[in-house]
Formats: sequence, structure tokens, C-alpha cells
Amino acid sequence: MNHLLARRSVLRIGVGIAASMTLPGRVFSAGSAQVTATKLNDRLLLISGLGGNLVALRGDEGLLLVDSGAPGATDQLLAELAKFARNAKVHTVLNTHWHAEQTGGNDVFGAAGVKMIAHAKAAQRMAVDQYVPWEDRYIKARNKAAVPREVFYNGSRQLQFGKEHIEYGYLQQPHTDGDIYVYLRESNVLLAGDAVSPRLDPELAWFEGGWLGGRVDSQAKLLAIGNEQTRIIASTGGVISRAEVKTERDAMATAFDRVSEAIRKGFTTEDMQKGRLLDGLPRTWANPDKFLYAAHKGMWAHYNKLSHSIV
Ligand SMILES: [Zn+2]
Repeated sequence: MNHLLARRSVLRIGVGIAASMTLPGRVFSAGSAQVTATKLNDRLLLISGLGGNLVALRGDEGLLLVDSGAPGATDQLLAELAKFARNAKVHTVLNTHWHAEQTGGNDVFGAAGVKMIAHAKAAQRMAVDQYVPWEDRYIKARNKAAVPREVFYNGSRQLQFGKEHIEYGYLQQPHTDGDIYVYLRESNVLLAGDAVSPRLDPELAWFEGGWLGGRVDSQAKLLAIGNEQTRIIASTGGVISRAEVKTERDAMATAFDRVSEAIRKGFTTEDMQKGRLLDGLPRTWANPDKFLYAAHKGMWAHYNKLSHSIV
């Protein structure tokens, strides 16, 4: 019975925090962004400031993009690409997940017949209206041309592009239910989307399937790719190291243990917030209460996996 009472109070106190949650589909405003383009090697460019971080890989075929920037930023993106590879056309786009900051350029590239690859759940979320429960509204479905058609569910896939061997694969719901990694083997660069966020607070989009246990598993998977020299690029921040991913993974694993134990004891989200459940972890949060709210919500959605060992 205590559990039921606890759940009811979670729902009641959750509303204020939910209203301040960061939403998918933040609007990009041209001119407000500081755009930076950083060459990672002679054929690989990191572009920041046009939505989420994205990279452009130059090959004989043209350009391959991992993520396509925010809506409204595509003209600026094309200008940056023209500086990097004059006359080169975008040939392939991989999307790390469905959020607008990662897929805003898809409309233009899809309409031009560019091959676009994503997780099946990401494509599904783009193809139909998405409910936003804390605002009781829907995010409109994307144009048909913007929705990637080459999709997959589990495991990994290989792709050769110019001199680069590319592996991309499923992550276990670290942020949404359609997150993938992309590993560029020769460049030894790993794109992680929003599955890693050592500088900004990690975002668990619980209503879209993202959850804490999945974040722990996904980060373990990312750490098994490449080597100590691998450069990792998430949607936010600059190039990050494996050590930073490991620090976040350790913090997430401890947070998972603490939140799942608190749930087993019948504590509410408010109890966890008042108990400062994230204190003492090897990272800090700008808004620990928001993270705890999302972590707790995500746990309820994955209640069948709340054993001590994750998965
Ligand atoms: Zn995202």
C-alpha cells in the first residue's frame, strides 16, 4: 500500500519539475549561435553551434554527415560544408536520434535524395505526431522526406565511405528509445549523440524510452569500442575522452543503484530529492532534482528490469 501512496505523490509533485523540462524540438535561431568548425583530420570536420554537434566526413562519394543540425540552420550548415569540401554533395546522413537538433537538415537532404540512416524507433517518432505529456500537446510529424528510410533495430551495421570504415549500432535507450552510436574506425572517432553528456546534465527523455539503466549499459558499450586514444563526440561539448565517459558511467551506475534501492523502499521522487540522492557522485548536476525526477519516471517505465544487475 505504501508504494501506491508513494506513486500518487510522485504524480502530484512531479508536475512543477516536468514543466521546466527541456523539450525536444528547441528552435534554432540563426545569428545567436557561435558556429565553430574544427578539423579532426584531413577528411573529418566537427561543426558545433548549429544544433547538436555534427561531423562531416569527406570521401570519394561526397560527404557523409553524422547528424544534420537544427531546423533553420541548414543554410549555415551548407555554407560550412562548402568551405570544407568545395562542390562536394552530401551523400549519406546518419542520425544519432530523432531530436530536432540532430535531424533539422533532414528535410533538405531527404528532398535531394540523400541516403538517410537511423534507428527504426527514431524514424517512427519522426513519422508521426509525438505527445508531450507535461504540456498536453503534440509535436507535429516531420515531412515525409525528412524521415530516414534505411533503419534497423538491434545490433550493428557496417558501411565503407571513402577511406573510412564505419560501424554504427544500437544503444540501449540511454536518452531515447532510438539512439545509435557511429564509429569511424580509421579516424578513431566515436559519435555518441546524447548518450553521453559529461558537461551538461544528462537528459533522460523518459517519455521516449530513455532511462538510467539504459544509460549505464550504453556507456559500457561505448567504452568497449575503440581504444584509449578514441576521440568521443557527443551532441554537446567538445571532443571528450574515454576517461570522461567512464566517469559519467560510474556516476550513472551509482545513481542507478541508489534510485532503484529508493524505489524498492517505497520512497517518492520528492524523498529522493530531499535526500540529495546524487550527492557525492563523481560529477555534478546543474539541476539534480530534474535529473532525479526523470530517472525515477524512467525506472517506472522499466520496472521489469529493476533487479540489482541491469538488463
Ligand atoms: Zn536529444
